[in-house]
Amino acid sequence: MGNVYNIDEAREGGKERITGQIFDIQRFAVHDGPGIRTTVFFKGCSNRCEWCHNPESFVSRSQIQYYPNRCVFCGNCVECCPQKCHFIDDGRHIFDRTNCTACGLCTQSCYVNALVLSGKPMTVDEVMEQVLADVVYYEKSGGGVTLSGGEPVLQTDFCLELLKCIKSHNLHVAIQTAGNYSYERLEVLLPYADLIMYDVKAYSRIIYDMYIHGDRDTILNNLKKLDGEGVPVIVRTPVVGSVNDTPQEILSIARFLQDMKNLKQYVLLPYHSLGKVKYDALGKEYENAFYTPASDAMSELKSLAGEYVPV
Ligand code: SF4
Ligand code: SF4
Ligand code: SF4
Repeated sequence: MGNVYNIDEAREGGKERITGQIFDIQRFAVHDGPGIRTTVFFKGCSNRCEWCHNPESFVSRSQIQYYPNRCVFCGNCVECCPQKCHFIDDGRHIFDRTNCTACGLCTQSCYVNALVLSGKPMTVDEVMEQVLADVVYYEKSGGGVTLSGGEPVLQTDFCLELLKCIKSHNLHVAIQTAGNYSYERLEVLLPYADLIMYDVKAYSRIIYDMYIHGDRDTILNNLKKLDGEGVPVIVRTPVVGSVNDTPQEILSIARFLQDMKNLKQYVLLPYHSLGKVKYDALGKEYENAFYTPASDAMSELKSLAGEYVPV
């Protein structure tokens, strides 16, 4: 291997202290690229899609999720919280987040997982320990490792060290990204990526302004730059009922993609509302009336897009 990551050299250079803020590592993932994969979820995102099913990924700092339906009112969290954030009052558990430092002590005392710590700093070695546990499955299925989020590319330095280490084991790497950052962040990662899964959630400026809250021109321009680099790209659009589920919106995206040289596939994914419970657990409002497009509507959109790009 020509470009072997040398963990000892990295350590001498102080790289062992680089940590990523990670909120989940899912093994045996089958929808995040080819084969069986381990998906590493990075906390922090520069968009704020109003349908996002991972609201715990919005900010990079650690947070506490509280699931009241699991609480058995044992009072353990009341006893252990140094910030006095938990109360049992008249048989009800009240969680006041105002002074919470996300130290995680209460989550360790909650034996029914009503309190969950979302996000923790992890070193390259700690992530690799989980990644390498399933090498045999990657080899058998043609799978590998996917960096997802949130927006992994925002944690550029950590991603770079992690990717060097993954590639030194000759594993396939996919990066899922939404493209809202300065292009240089993605560019330095590309030598270590086998596949980029790039989200284009809309073409119309008004949808970016009303629902995505990211910079449309940056996202679309970064995709064009990426296409000049020779790395295979899959573009994905979550089709969200009442937002972008119209023929003209999907056709606008497909026409924008049609001249790409490295586009392997354009994938339309139906919106689902499974993330709503996470908004409640984070103490956030979720008031939108998005709906899941019907399967025949999805088929129609797919066939329209297929006139311009591989679907
Ligand atoms: S420790 Fe968990 S189960 Fe016990 S009161 Fe707190 S949240 Fe509820
Ligand atoms: S994370 Fe720490 S500060 Fe926050 S509620 Fe739990 S114990 Fe208290
Ligand atoms: S880009 Fe992805 S992670 Fe970020 S807010 Fe949108 S849906 Fe959520």
